[in-house]
Amino acid sequence: MTAHALNLDFSNRPVEAGPIPLAGLTRAQLRDVLVEHAGVDEKKAKMRADQLWRWIYHYGVTSFDEMTNISKDLRKVLEEKFTLARAEIVERLVSVDGTRKYLIRFAPGVEVETVFIPDVARSGALCVSSQVGCTLTCTFCHTGTQKLVRNLTAAEIAQQVMIARDDLAEWPTSNEDRKITNIVFMGMGEPLYNLDHVSDAIDVISDNEGMAIGRRRITVSTSGVVPKIGELGERTRTMLAISLHATNDELRNELVPLNKKYPLDQLMEAIRAYPDLGNSKRVTFEYVMLKGVNDSPAEARALVKLLKGVPAKINLIPFNPWPDSPYECSDWDTIETFADIVNRAGYASPIRTPRGRDIFAACGQLKSESVKQRASERRKAERAGETP
Ligand code: SAH
Ligand code: SF4
Repeated sequence: MTAHALNLDFSNRPVEAGPIPLAGLTRAQLRDVLVEHAGVDEKKAKMRADQLWRWIYHYGVTSFDEMTNISKDLRKVLEEKFTLARAEIVERLVSVDGTRKYLIRFAPGVEVETVFIPDVARSGALCVSSQVGCTLTCTFCHTGTQKLVRNLTAAEIAQQVMIARDDLAEWPTSNEDRKITNIVFMGMGEPLYNLDHVSDAIDVISDNEGMAIGRRRITVSTSGVVPKIGELGERTRTMLAISLHATNDELRNELVPLNKKYPLDQLMEAIRAYPDLGNSKRVTFEYVMLKGVNDSPAEARALVKLLKGVPAKINLIPFNPWPDSPYECSDWDTIETFADIVNRAGYASPIRTPRGRDIFAACGQLKSESVKQRASERRKAERAGETP
């Protein structure tokens, strides 16, 4: 597979940049490129886009030849102007526990990790990234040590799902053996700092005539960008996860520095207002277990108190170490005691078994080598990358 710079700002696209990648585009973008680049009549554009949509997202085709309900002539034009290729998988690792990690390169210096976590049954979750690096600096998170390179486009986010589906041979959508049943935005980056693209990507991923992963099976995790939480709910109707990790402002300020900007009372207020909350739509609270930092029985009780009245699930995550990380994971007994207190208060609180630690794919271990380059350096690298 070859890499394609998914620059979706078509107006600035250099003419010599090669065929435009279609995989991951929204319906509106698909319509627009057909009109603009393939000379499709405005009046027919919607119908054509709908036809293409089905081939791209239901069947997952990678060649225009397979689009049998489209005339040979038009297929020829599509072939010249567009490509169905996905971005390049630079590295693919499979853990002893079946977890798969992909390092995907969207452009020179723009690489992210995507992780497939098989479940015990026939289901599994795909953990996708929304940014290359992160602007936030949570002290226990490896991604937090990588500066933000840039936001991913909607197409780049949706392509992560397509690439994993290619690898697991899950096309077409009607294939009953599909293993990717859920999507979690728990990879690299803070999704609510890239909400426009995340929301468009969710439209693509959840569309019933395409990949059809229902909105209730998509979870967006945030470290607590309070002003965007309501908007996330309204626009995407997906499930919400909150990276909580502490029950008082003093400790949370230290672990999740964004808390200084949006303290716990504001965070809890925004969460309570999230649309449609109830027994079938609960908020997941992620709580990383850090030895001697946030794992005492008193903190478990404080957690129960803090979440009173919120339809919630609590996800206890054993801390996953990374090189030079400043914390240790709590002892197993401590985690179980903590879980018992929370369970007795009526909350489901599964302890998240670390998955894929051997391939460095577990929560908070993701980091790519991408660093922010000056625009001039990036252009140089892009030019070099495009020369065969
Ligand atoms: N930026 C968003 C999405 C990333 S989700 C957010 O923070 O919610 C990644 C999840 O893994 C978050 O809950 C994060 O707090 C947790 N995490 C980060 N580093 C971790 C580590 N070293 N061990 C276990 N969990 C970690
Ligand atoms: Fe960014 Fe989330 Fe990691 Fe915090 S936990 S640094 S918000 S990716």
